[in-house]
Amino acid sequence: MRKISARAITEAIYQAIRKISFAPDPDVTRLLKEAQNNESSPLARDALSIILENHRLSPTLQIPLCQDTGSTILFAEIGIEACLAEPLSQSLNRAIIRAQQEIPLRASIVQDPLFPRVNTGDNSPGIVHITQVEGDGLRLTIGQKGGGAENTSFLKMFTPATGANDIVEYITAKVLAAHSRPCPPLILGIGIGGNFETAPLLAKRALFEKLGRPHPDPQYRALEEQITEGINAAGCGVQGLGGNHTVLATHILSEPCHIASLPVAVNVQCHAHRHITVEVSRETN
Ligand code: SF4
Repeated sequence: MRKISARAITEAIYQAIRKISFAPDPDVTRLLKEAQNNESSPLARDALSIILENHRLSPTLQIPLCQDTGSTILFAEIGIEACLAEPLSQSLNRAIIRAQQEIPLRASIVQDPLFPRVNTGDNSPGIVHITQVEGDGLRLTIGQKGGGAENTSFLKMFTPATGANDIVEYITAKVLAAHSRPCPPLILGIGIGGNFETAPLLAKRALFEKLGRPHPDPQYRALEEQITEGINAAGCGVQGLGGNHTVLATHILSEPCHIASLPVAVNVQCHAHRHITVEVSRETN
């Protein structure tokens, strides 16, 4: 067994949060530049210039990419031959609290969603999803997600009689109805299949795929393109200012589902797409 120290995990998560809070994903910057070159609306072109200027200044001035510095989501792949010194949630929360205090980041979490919504004051707790894999490694995908885009995400339990075009129509209508609220241009993570709880998880995982990667299945690749192109043709545009770039990329992940079901979940992400994947080093206690 390989023992992985709590200190190494906390440090890896802290450094990851620090990096993504300032440094834009180079793939987002690339897609924004492509959008700027092909944008039909002068107003939207101006808005893209401002977003790209923000990408340039954020790491230089060490000012977070967005005022909503986000809540922390962790997807962990833990090898069956790896042994962690403490529950992963504890290491994660220590890293979050340190990041909130030292960087600093906005405290964006309330202790209870309804009664009485008191801020925890340190941005903890984060959300952890764990998958067991072969080997003795620990691979962590960390995201900082803002509330505005998350609020416009959605799930629908379709029936198996639903066709791909019906799904495209539904997603297009929902994304356009959100208009400027999720801060377009957007990235759409779509989970198809699984069940009521796993389709949204697939959708979030889909967000963290390498941006602009072609889907390995040509049918899903065509569906991704159809969704992106359909929404972009509708004219909402950058920050709702019109033009032809509401969506930068659409990623679909799918998995088996019950014969009576067809769950479809969409996780909407803004252009402040902060995420990274790291392997925790081989340091031990
Ligand atoms: S939706 Fe994204 S860009 Fe808009 S305020 Fe939230 S984190 Fe910032």
